[in-house]
Amino acid sequence: MTQNRVYNFSAGPAVLPQEVLKIAADEMLNYQNSGMSVMEMSHRSKTYDNIIKTAEKDLRDLLNIPDNYKVLFLQGGAHLQFSMVPINLLKNGVADYIVTGQWAKKAYQEAQKYGKINKVATSEDKTFSYIPDCSDLDISPDADYVYICENNTIYGTKFHTLPNTKGKILVSDMSSCFLSEPVDVTKYGLIYAGVQKNVGPAGVQIVIIREDLLREDLPSWCPTMLSYKVHADNDSLYNTPPAYGIYICGLVFKWLKKQGGLEAIKQHNEKKAKILYDFLDNSKLFKGTVEKDSRSLMNVPFVTGSEELDKKFIEEAKNAGLVQLKGHRSVGGMRASIYNAMPIEGVEKLVEFMAKFEKENL
Ligand SMILES: *Cc1c(COP(=O)(O)O)cnc(C)c1O
Repeated sequence: MTQNRVYNFSAGPAVLPQEVLKIAADEMLNYQNSGMSVMEMSHRSKTYDNIIKTAEKDLRDLLNIPDNYKVLFLQGGAHLQFSMVPINLLKNGVADYIVTGQWAKKAYQEAQKYGKINKVATSEDKTFSYIPDCSDLDISPDADYVYICENNTIYGTKFHTLPNTKGKILVSDMSSCFLSEPVDVTKYGLIYAGVQKNVGPAGVQIVIIREDLLREDLPSWCPTMLSYKVHADNDSLYNTPPAYGIYICGLVFKWLKKQGGLEAIKQHNEKKAKILYDFLDNSKLFKGTVEKDSRSLMNVPFVTGSEELDKKFIEEAKNAGLVQLKGHRSVGGMRASIYNAMPIEGVEKLVEFMAKFEKENL
């Protein structure tokens, strides 16, 4: 590792592959003999057109995205998708939400503004520490879609089986597990992800939407910028896109391909997560907070049981070059986010440090 770089366990914005940052640095002043930085380039130029088209193509390759799905590079964060999804997809005015954490809850609350929104399952009774059984939910017969947050960044849970939507369209917020493993895109009507968790810098939102869900007949009050169809018809260039961020995402897609694609990345992620979960399962001081069959490969929350010790741990870990281990402000404790770009040595170092801390403080 380059000197002075720490192991960064932030939940987002989060660690990016060092190789990618190096390429970006090398190309910062003069992108491939264009004589300028990508930041300074017209988004209508040939050079930039090649950047965004290549990024889309590589993403399509990685996820095996079928031709009848559009890929959009948008802005506004996941939070804007909390609104864009209901605005664009509600036809009957009814949708069913599965509330497995803070982000799903926020999406559920925001959608209320636009229709009759039902909560068909939740795990709030146990502080969102598990994924509820979604094999036979009371899906509304006229639901326009069923909504999930697939990986719950704050609580560290993940859907390992998709809900039975009884034929309804599935919409998924994949922000914190996007490109961490292969996904069968055909099971979804719409997938979205804020890239600052696992893919790139904050400011880019990727939406993958089945073409038949692109609608012309949106409510007349709907801002043009919130129409998926407008962005799809303009290949994400209706207005100036988050151009530099998309370029970095493109570099990350190339890096993922070089790692062997999503199957290889999944195996790598499983190996990393196992090191940490195995340690937690055997520790006398640290404890994972999530039910085993709901565990995320990306976000791993844990506690000592004492707020004081938690604080001490976070502080001492930081001094050892293991940073951003504080849990989300709503749950406390610790959380290690171990996204694609976290090297295995980072997790090994963390576990080593935890073992040492345990010995000193038990
Ligand atoms: C971080 C996160 C969000 C919020 O993203 P913003 O870009 O801040 O709007 C929503 N959903 C999930 C799953 C997240 O991890």
